[in-house]
Amino acid sequence: MVTEKLREVEGKIREACERSGRDPEEVTLVAVSKTKPVEMIREAYEAGVRDFGENKVQEMMEKQGQLPDDIRWHMIGHLQRNKVKYLIGKVHLIHSVDSLRLAREISDQSVKRDVDTDILIEVNIAGEESKFGISGGEALTLVEEAAKLPRIHIRGLMVVAPFVEDPEENRTCFRELKELSVDISRKKIDNIYMYVLSMGMTGDYEVAIEEGSTMVRVGTGIFGERNYS
Ligand SMILES: *Cc1c(COP(=O)(O)O)cnc(C)c1O
Repeated sequence: MVTEKLREVEGKIREACERSGRDPEEVTLVAVSKTKPVEMIREAYEAGVRDFGENKVQEMMEKQGQLPDDIRWHMIGHLQRNKVKYLIGKVHLIHSVDSLRLAREISDQSVKRDVDTDILIEVNIAGEESKFGISGGEALTLVEEAAKLPRIHIRGLMVVAPFVEDPEENRTCFRELKELSVDISRKKIDNIYMYVLSMGMTGDYEVAIEEGSTMVRVGTGIFGERNYS
């Protein structure tokens, strides 16, 4: 079941790449496994997936202990500073950095552990009040400040687009994140090489790829609906 759905998603990623003249190698599929059991993750692993996304530190840690070491774990959810210490050294990429205070804590803990940590800056492009993320206008300042911190590396930007019925409605949002990423890259800030654009979820990853996404975070499309009860 997981494998079939995964192949379907992979096929759609390839088609979106073809439509937009992109190389599918440029797009990483992060399978969002939050709330889903280890057995389902293992099935996706056996079908070839190595990148998994979780939004809670404790859940990620519990799953990590039961699964192969070569999995690249992505923290995609809002991160509290007091949880950072558990994550450092165990996470491939933190997608959800939206304040200098959080970036500082990640830097401090990385120094303490003597490891490097890759991060993305989460931008709230649509300016939705209910969402985490820094505004587009503040993103450059945050990148400049965070770039000075030791042992963290900003690899790009991330957005959680609004929930919409028609994915076309999010095209502008994706385009704006891409433009922001290009603008920031042009500033040639020391230490900063922006190449990751984490955008697109089950409902809109094809449009996101057409607009330049290099990382899509797909949960429901692979593992089915989540049950939070
Ligand atoms: C849950 C989640 C996803 C995956 O959502 P689906 O619609 O199930 O694909 C992607 N990104 C973030 C930040 C999430 O929290």
